Amino acid sequence: MNSEDKLRYEINYCGGCDVCRDLLGNSCLVFPEIFRLYDKERERGEKISTGELRNLVDLCNFCALCPCLNIRQALLSAKTEYGEKYGLGFKIRAIENVDRIGKVGGTLPILSNFFLQNGVTRGWIERVAGLHRARKFPKFPKENFPKWVSRRKANIGPGTEQERKVAYFAGCTAKFFFPEVAKAFVKVFEMNGIEVYYPEQKCCGMPAFLEGDTKLTMEFVKYNLPRLMEAVAEGYDIVCSCPTCGYFLKCILKAGAYHSPEYTDSLVVSDGGFLKLPRGGPILSTVHDGFSLVWVEFLNTYLRDDGYFSSISAKKRITVAENTYDAGEYLLKLHSDGEFDTRLGPLSARVAYYPPCHLREQKIGKPYYHLLRLIHGLSLEAIDEIYCCGSGGIMGFKKCFHPLSIKISGRLIAKLKRIDPEVIATDCLSCRLQFNQLTPYKVLHSLEIIKESYDNYQSHSEPRKA
Ligand code: SF4
Ligand code: SF4
Repeated sequence: MNSEDKLRYEINYCGGCDVCRDLLGNSCLVFPEIFRLYDKERERGEKISTGELRNLVDLCNFCALCPCLNIRQALLSAKTEYGEKYGLGFKIRAIENVDRIGKVGGTLPILSNFFLQNGVTRGWIERVAGLHRARKFPKFPKENFPKWVSRRKANIGPGTEQERKVAYFAGCTAKFFFPEVAKAFVKVFEMNGIEVYYPEQKCCGMPAFLEGDTKLTMEFVKYNLPRLMEAVAEGYDIVCSCPTCGYFLKCILKAGAYHSPEYTDSLVVSDGGFLKLPRGGPILSTVHDGFSLVWVEFLNTYLRDDGYFSSISAKKRITVAENTYDAGEYLLKLHSDGEFDTRLGPLSARVAYYPPCHLREQKIGKPYYHLLRLIHGLSLEAIDEIYCCGSGGIMGFKKCFHPLSIKISGRLIAKLKRIDPEVIATDCLSCRLQFNQLTPYKVLHSLEIIKESYDNYQSHSEPRKA
C-alpha cells in the first residue's frame, strides 16, 4: 500500500470512528476537512482526489493533539511521498533550513534585520520566498549563542570528570534568535553545579521532517547523532530547552527502534516465548512509560523497524533517545532528589504558563509549572493541554499557512486574553513567536524566569517584576 492509499485508509477509519469530529473540530484544521471529504465521498460517491489530499496534508502542523498516532503518521508519510513525487518547490526550500537562515542572517545581523523588518523588502521576500509579509520575524541578535559560547571559552568538551554534566542541545531558535534563553539555560544549570557542554550541532531536523524533505532531515540527523552518541559515551546527559527538539530526539527518532532485530536480539526470551519491550507505539511512538510483554512470533510477523529512520542503527537511536531530557524534566528530577538549588529570589508578576504541544507528547507533565511555583511572589495560572498555538514552527511563517495558523490559535489566544497576564511563560520559542504576533503580553521561557529569580536572590530580597 503506498502512502496515499494508507492515508485514504486512515481517513475512512477516522470517518467510522467520528470521535474527532467534535473533539478537534475547533483545534485542528485537518479533522474538519477529513470529515468533509469523508462525508462527500460517502454521500455523493465522489472519490477524494489526489489534489484534495495534497491540500489536506498541508493543514497538519503536527501538534499531536489527535488521539491516534496513525492519522498523523499517515498525513506525514503522504506529505513526504508528495514532496518526492512533485518536488518541494523553491519557497519551502528557502525557509525550511532554519539552521542555514540563522547562520547566514546572524553573520550580518544589522543588514539582515533591515531586510526582514522593512515593509518594502518584506513584500519582495514574500514573493520570492513565500514568507508572509505580516508575520513578525524575530530580530537577529548582535551576538548569537554559538558566538557567545566561543567568546566565553567555557565550553568544556568530553572527557572531564565532573559528576553531573549535560550536553546542551539548544535548537536553532534559541541559538540564532533568542540567545538569552540559551544563556539562561547555562546559568540555571551551572547554578545547580552542573557542567554544561555545548557539542557541535545542527537543526534537530523537525522543520524539514514536517515539510516532507527526507534528504535534509537525514542530513541533520546523521550530523547530530554521532556527536550526541559521543557525549553520552563520555557520561553526559543530553538536555534540550526546546520541547520540539526534545520530542524529535526522544520520540520521533526512535520510533520502531525497539522492534529492530538489532535491539531484540540482545534481549532474553522468556520460557513462554515472550520479550520484554519498552512500551510505545510502533509508528511515531510516544516515550515509553513502562514495558510490554510481546510474543516473539507476533513481533517478528507484525512489528518492524521499518519507519522513517529505520536506515539508521536502532541502538544508536535508542541510546540518544533514552539519554535525552527536557530541561524542565531534568531540573524537576533534581528537585525531587533534593538537589535543586532553591535559592530563588522573589519575583512579582501574574504569569500564565502555557505547556506546548511537543512537551505534552513527551508525557512528562508540566515540569516548569512545578518549578515556577517555587518562586515566591509569582501568581501562576497553567493553561490545560487541549490548546495549540497554531504556529507549527516555520509553517506559521509561510504565506499560505499564516492565516490558518492564526485561525488555529483562536481559542488559545482568547483564553490568554481572558486571563490577561503580565507575562506568558512557555518553553517553546515557536509558541513565543506566535504570542508575540498575536498578544500584547511579554513572553518568556520558563528558564529565563528561573534565572531571573536566581539573580534576584543574589541581589535583592524584595519581589522584582519578572
Ligand atoms: S484520530 Fe483516532 S479518535 Fe480521532 S477520529 Fe481518528 S480514529 Fe477516531
Ligand atoms: S497532529 Fe495536530 S494538526 Fe495534525 S492531525 Fe493531529 S491534531 Fe490535527
